[in-house]
Amino acid sequence: CNASSSNTVQAAAATAERPSKQQVNLQWDQLGFGLNHVAPVMYHAEWAHGMGWKGELRPYEPLRLLPSAQCLNYGQAVFEGLKAQRTARGRIALFRPDQNAARMAAGADRLCMAEPPAELFLEAVESVVRENSQWVPPQGKGSLYLRPLLLGSGPILGLGPAPAYTLVVFAAAVGAYFKGGQLTPIDLIVEERFHRAAPGGMGGTKAAGNYSPVLKTQLKAKQDGFADVVYLDAKHDKYLEEVSSCNMFMVKGKTLSTPPLEGTILPGVTRKSVMQLAEVRGYTVEERPIEVEEAMEADEIFTSGTAVVVCSVGSLQYRGNRRKFGPTEGSEPGPVALEIYNALTRLQLEEEEDPFGWVHPV
Ligand code: PMP
Repeated sequence: CNASSSNTVQAAAATAERPSKQQVNLQWDQLGFGLNHVAPVMYHAEWAHGMGWKGELRPYEPLRLLPSAQCLNYGQAVFEGLKAQRTARGRIALFRPDQNAARMAAGADRLCMAEPPAELFLEAVESVVRENSQWVPPQGKGSLYLRPLLLGSGPILGLGPAPAYTLVVFAAAVGAYFKGGQLTPIDLIVEERFHRAAPGGMGGTKAAGNYSPVLKTQLKAKQDGFADVVYLDAKHDKYLEEVSSCNMFMVKGKTLSTPPLEGTILPGVTRKSVMQLAEVRGYTVEERPIEVEEAMEADEIFTSGTAVVVCSVGSLQYRGNRRKFGPTEGSEPGPVALEIYNALTRLQLEEEEDPFGWVHPV
C-alpha cells in the first residue's frame, strides 16, 4: 500500500487548461453549506504502480471511471474537509492542513490505498485555493471549503486493492453548516437503534463508507425537528461517541471531557485544537468515556468540527427525556462553547496571535 512522491504539480499546473479568472459576482449573504458556489478549478492526480503521483489543475468536471473501478464496487474511498478563510491580515489562510494530510494518509493505510505524500496533499489544497481565490468569501461571510477525495479508481473484479488511485481536491464557497447560523444552538437526539462504528472497524477514518449508514438516522432525526443524532458506543451502548459529522465535548465546571480516540470516532482537527485551546485557557481537559446519563446532567454540551466550528447543543434527547442546557434553556450558546468558539475563530481569522503555528497562509 505504498506510493512514491512525484513533485509534478507545479509544472502540470502551469500547462493545465482551465477557466480564466472571470469576474465573479457571488451571493455572499446567502451561502449555505452546499454546492451553489462550486469553485471552477479542481486538482486531479493519479497514481499507478511504478509511476508515482502525477497531478494537475483541471476545470471542475466529471471524473472518468470504469464501472469496474474499485471504489464503485468495494468502496476504497476516503475524503477530507478543510477550509480557507480571509483573515484580518488581508490574506487567505488554511487551518492545520498538515493534520488533514496525515488523517488522509492514515485512512489510506487502513483501506490499503496508495497514500498521497503530505507535500503533494498540501500543494494540491494550496493550489486549489490560489486558483479559486475569488471564491473565498469576504471575511465573516463564510469560507472556501476544500474537499480532498482519494479513490481506488483503478479497475478490479475480485476483491483486492485497486491497481490505480485518484486524488481530487474540489472546493465550494460555503456559509454556516447547521440551519439557523453558526452560533445557534442545535437540538440533538441520542440514536438508540443504530451504531456508527464498531471496535476494530473503520470509524476512526474518514472513509466514505462511514457516512451513508448515518443517513437513515439523520433524516429521521431531521423530520422530527432535530439537527442531528448522537451515536453511542456499539459495545456497551451507553457511552457518547460523536455526531454524524462532528465530535462532542461535555462541560462540567472548569472541566471539559471528550470521548477517547479508540478507533471508533474520528480524530477531529477541531477537537484536537479545542483541547489545546481550552487547556491554555485554564480548563482541565480529559479524554474519557462519557455515559449518556452523565451528559444529560452536564452544564453544557458542544460539538466541534471544521464545518460546524464549535456549536452549542441546546438540548439533548435520550429515551424520550429532553434536557435543555443553560439558563436560557438552550436558546443561547453556552458560555464555555462561546468562549472556545471565539478563541478558535479569532485565531483562525488572525484577529489574535497564533502561538501554535496553526494558521497556514496560502
Ligand atoms: N466526526 C466526524 C464523523 C466527521 O465527519 C468530522 C468532520 N471531518 C468530525 C468529527 C470533525 O473533524 P474535524 O474537526 O477534523 O473537521
